[in-house]
Amino acid sequence: YKPLAELDPDVQNIIDKETWRQWSGLELIASENLTSRATMEANGSILTNKYSEGLPSARYYGGNEWIDELEELCRKRALEAFHLDPTKWGVNVQPYSGSTAKYVMFHIGLQRILRAHLTASLSDSFAALTALIQPQDRLMGLGLPDGGHLTHGYYTAKKKITASSIYFQSFPYGLDPASHLIDYTKLAEQARLFKPRLIICGASAYPRDWDYASLRATANEHGAFLMADIAHTSGLVAAQVLADPFEHCDVVTTTTHKTLRGPRAGLIFFRKDLKNAEDLEKRVNESVFPACQGGPHNNTIAGIATALKQACSPTWQAYAKQVISNAQTLATELVNYGHKIQTNGTDNHLVLWDLRPSGVTGSKVEKICDLVGITINKSAQAPGGIRLGTSALTSRNMTEEDHKTVAGLLHRTVQLSLKLQKEAGSKLLKDFVRVAEKSVEVHALRVEV
Ligand code: PLP
Repeated sequence: YKPLAELDPDVQNIIDKETWRQWSGLELIASENLTSRATMEANGSILTNKYSEGLPSARYYGGNEWIDELEELCRKRALEAFHLDPTKWGVNVQPYSGSTAKYVMFHIGLQRILRAHLTASLSDSFAALTALIQPQDRLMGLGLPDGGHLTHGYYTAKKKITASSIYFQSFPYGLDPASHLIDYTKLAEQARLFKPRLIICGASAYPRDWDYASLRATANEHGAFLMADIAHTSGLVAAQVLADPFEHCDVVTTTTHKTLRGPRAGLIFFRKDLKNAEDLEKRVNESVFPACQGGPHNNTIAGIATALKQACSPTWQAYAKQVISNAQTLATELVNYGHKIQTNGTDNHLVLWDLRPSGVTGSKVEKICDLVGITINKSAQAPGGIRLGTSALTSRNMTEEDHKTVAGLLHRTVQLSLKLQKEAGSKLLKDFVRVAEKSVEVHALRVEV
């Protein structure tokens, strides 16, 4: 019963340092947020002690009376937060993360497609059945360099990188090179050649909204399954300030810790009114446990439930609108300073900043930002750029005016990076860092931040 600081001062000390880092700096990583104190309390609670494999009222362990109540509450709030009719949609709240939620769905996706095929062809041949459920079925997702996520089928010329390309044939769709918007016409043409069984929409770095109706039409042409991964934007979708993927998709997955402001985990929403999918609910649930996971993390489910209560509250939409307005202000200000912003703005919480015209790389700017207390990340998608997000600063009640200041600070970090690059006399990151760490200007900017 000793408190952490007494029992394990080493860990307490690390937590204290990280707390200071999070609160004394400016958090601009688009995939992060600052959860509420209440969510953290639920997440750090005694519920971590309990095993509860299975689902409410159907557990493999005793003593789950209150855990059942918790999971039911979380499911109810998840449907409410996304304005879903419980007769048409169901949800599984147990996935440990966004990636797990997605892989569970790949597993399910193929099984449902198998059922659709069986109904269509009435083939009862075991060979046909095995062929259909063989890994290597085809999926299309937004390519990683264009803003997609690793789990959307990413592979390189040399290597298949994630389970989504190792076990499936994947083909990336992409952006129009001039507008940097999803090229839906080309996507439809590519789908006619590739004939996907599954189309995934959603992204890690795409600043514009999605045309779900167009994707649905393409999926329908091929009898494909349409899945939206709204990991980044789910808080904004719940606030109804972005297009609604639930109108058109069969399944929607999300993380809970980005714009939704919850603890680190995932959710899977599935349609209950699909033709040939009368048992989709059973298949989703069985794919989470026992196919892909063990016992649910009940403390996390409690944290999700608390975060969803916040997302159901009347003030949530104001938060989401502020997130977007802050991102738009940040983009506009950076453009005013002469910087290049992909698509010239944003519809959501993130801003993609193309640093190539500035003559300095994303890694160098990221390094200077770390030194001055601004947390950003260089874009895996566009090596010459960085990705910024406004959810965390908005959670600290920052508004447009604050984001003008933030844009000014970011502009100065780029100018400083250019100056230090010259002083280092080398383009190498290690030489640059050596000079930056000793720079008085960097230390002065840190104080200002
Ligand atoms: N899907 C998208 C679009 C993401 O951007 C991410 C993470 O950034 C994930 C899924 C994976 O989430 P997790 O890290 O919880 O597995």
